[in-house]
Amino acid sequence: MSKRKQYAAGLQAIFSTFKETTLKTGLLRGTRLLLNLNQKDGIDCNACAWTDPEGDRTFAEFCENGAKAIADEAVRRKVDESFFSRYSVEELAEKDDKWLNSQGRLTKPMFLAEGESHYKPISWETVFRIIADELNQLATPDEAVFYTSGRTSNEAAFLYQLFVRQFGTNNLPDCSNMCHESSSVALTESIGFGKATIRLEDIENAELIIIMGQNPGTNAPRMMTHLKRAKESGGKIIAVNPLPEAGLMGFIDPNPQHYASFKTYALTLLRSKVTKFADLYLPVRIGGDMAFLKGLMKALLEMEKKSPTPILDHDFINEKTEGFQDFVAHLESVSWEDILSSSGLSLEQIQQAARMYAEARSVVTCWAMGITQHKQAVGTIQDIVNLHLLRGNIGKPGAGLCPVRGHSNVQGDRTMGIWTKINPIFRQRLEREFHFKVPDRPGYTTVEAIRAMYEGRVKVFFALGGNFLSAAPDTKYTEKALRNCNLTVQVITKLNRTAVVTGKKALILPCLGRTEKDLTGGKEQFVSTESTMLNVQMSKGILEPISEDLRSEVWIIGKMAQAVLKNKVTVDWERMINDYDLIREAISKVVPGCENYNHRVRQKGGFYLPNPPRERIFLTDSGRAKFIVNYIEPIKCEKDELLLTTIRAHDQFNTTIYSESDRYRGISGSRRVIFMNPKDIERLGLKEGSKVKITSTFNGEERSVEGFRVVKYPIAERCAAMYFPEANPLISIESVAEKSLCPTSKLVKVKVTTCQDLS
Ligand code: SF4
Repeated sequence: MSKRKQYAAGLQAIFSTFKETTLKTGLLRGTRLLLNLNQKDGIDCNACAWTDPEGDRTFAEFCENGAKAIADEAVRRKVDESFFSRYSVEELAEKDDKWLNSQGRLTKPMFLAEGESHYKPISWETVFRIIADELNQLATPDEAVFYTSGRTSNEAAFLYQLFVRQFGTNNLPDCSNMCHESSSVALTESIGFGKATIRLEDIENAELIIIMGQNPGTNAPRMMTHLKRAKESGGKIIAVNPLPEAGLMGFIDPNPQHYASFKTYALTLLRSKVTKFADLYLPVRIGGDMAFLKGLMKALLEMEKKSPTPILDHDFINEKTEGFQDFVAHLESVSWEDILSSSGLSLEQIQQAARMYAEARSVVTCWAMGITQHKQAVGTIQDIVNLHLLRGNIGKPGAGLCPVRGHSNVQGDRTMGIWTKINPIFRQRLEREFHFKVPDRPGYTTVEAIRAMYEGRVKVFFALGGNFLSAAPDTKYTEKALRNCNLTVQVITKLNRTAVVTGKKALILPCLGRTEKDLTGGKEQFVSTESTMLNVQMSKGILEPISEDLRSEVWIIGKMAQAVLKNKVTVDWERMINDYDLIREAISKVVPGCENYNHRVRQKGGFYLPNPPRERIFLTDSGRAKFIVNYIEPIKCEKDELLLTTIRAHDQFNTTIYSESDRYRGISGSRRVIFMNPKDIERLGLKEGSKVKITSTFNGEERSVEGFRVVKYPIAERCAAMYFPEANPLISIESVAEKSLCPTSKLVKVKVTTCQDLS
């Protein structure tokens, strides 16, 4: 255990980038890749969905974790058929994600026949026959589920939803169901728009940035460049998080082109000159964000009463919103006692935040999973919106809302129709363009799909990318659900646990990665993605595919559609497969805001989708932004219970584990750790290094994991943290956010007890 860091990036980020890239891809190949990463007609990063600068891009337009993600995909190591003859599926299922991922790139389609113990190579032609036979023998199309991970391109996503709906179901769960679904639901209700309302310049020009439930240092590192610029122009930052994450406290920018001179750059790095971030760090109690927000707004109202001049933006409130009076009455009814006990913060801390908010003429609030994966996530996000409406902090420069998306095209997939419901305009245009009727029944979200598989209502599980099992909650339950299926199919680049915890039959379909040239149809194809801030741009691979048996996601979907739908044809799948421009033409006709897509996506840097709230246009039923009242539900804990949150380590992207190091938190060599507050360690009769068992109870059902080491950490009292997916077995499939059904991976009540010495 080394000392935890007080700042993010710096020299170490450069070393780590260099090491990872060189080791995995080779120096020259790696350098070529990095010089193309996030360039205007280069490779769009396959990790998070941070937005690229509109103006000139720097030569190093990436962060350490973007470099790790691209290097991890472009490894030279291969998993070939001899590997699968060496290991049975049962043996592979004993391996963890880090080991499976480190075996290298998949090279051939593999099939696990019913009753067999080993995967065997199979031809693409046979692949589609097996899938077609399995799907077409289902009693109803709703017995199949088609999952999408956020790596899927817009072109593949559009074709996928078209195929699935032509097949006859809306069972299109995606990884957004497990991450920002709460944001989409909350924002759509409040302002009629489920996405970020800002652009990069708004962060740089904000007088105050509030960062809630987010760890930019690891999960959106290039965000820190813009936080630094905001600080340099006098902006302030409030960080609200149970953990004092390095990327919230400070930053040393490792990009030389962000400095006036190389000398300044070198001195900054060598002398570790940190740009301080948080002006106010609030170690909120896990699940206490709504209470904090209500306290901040209540303090604002109290300030307004004492202030000679208005603090609230009454012109904006009167002209653009509704529900203000009811909301004020609600705030006045909430007691400070409830606010302080639920938030775990002091009155002074909340009042200081209110003063900073009132003094700022423009405010941006950014949030991520620490807000969205809670029972009351939707209500909490609506209180973030309420806070912004009180002072008109939306639709003006330097102000707005930013749910920071964690996977490169998770937002684009939703825009392309990957949704269990369907936007009425999208539906109408899709039916008109392709002459078929979209199924009426809303599809299964991720949690509903797992339950349906577990209960035998779903028999085929098809995943376009991702690592469903390790991303999902309630690991043992989800394992059983997958094993219950007649067929499970993974379209992936590398092995993961979902490929080895299978249905009775299973297929692994190796696809091209973002880094690889796509010569489908005999010509160089490109794909496109949408960033957190609605920027749509192209991505083109540069490397020769690692195996001639790889196929693009678009090709796999098109061929599957031909095999499954046979003569139910209203789509020329073959032409679409061979010319992605035809897919983009269809996107232009069907997807709102994507008109003239082929032309606009070829513009350097792509284009931005419409963003009505930026013009203070609120597409709600009343045309006004809504103050919405939600009530704090105090979280009661037994005296030996803690509130546990699940987190990512720095050497991890979603469920892809690069190493067992987490340098910002001072951890190395093991991921089986639980971060606890020193007072709780003492109170529970534990000590640093104790080996413990962690038990959660939900609706009377116990779940436990053991063999974790206690780590002393300055986390908020009565709170603890563990890495996912290791902690996911503790999260009940029934424990979900209201309205969004997002798993509550950020709040689980647990008991921590010493376990018999396991050494
Ligand atoms: S900030 Fe996100 S998108 Fe940008 S390089 Fe890093 S991981 Fe990739």
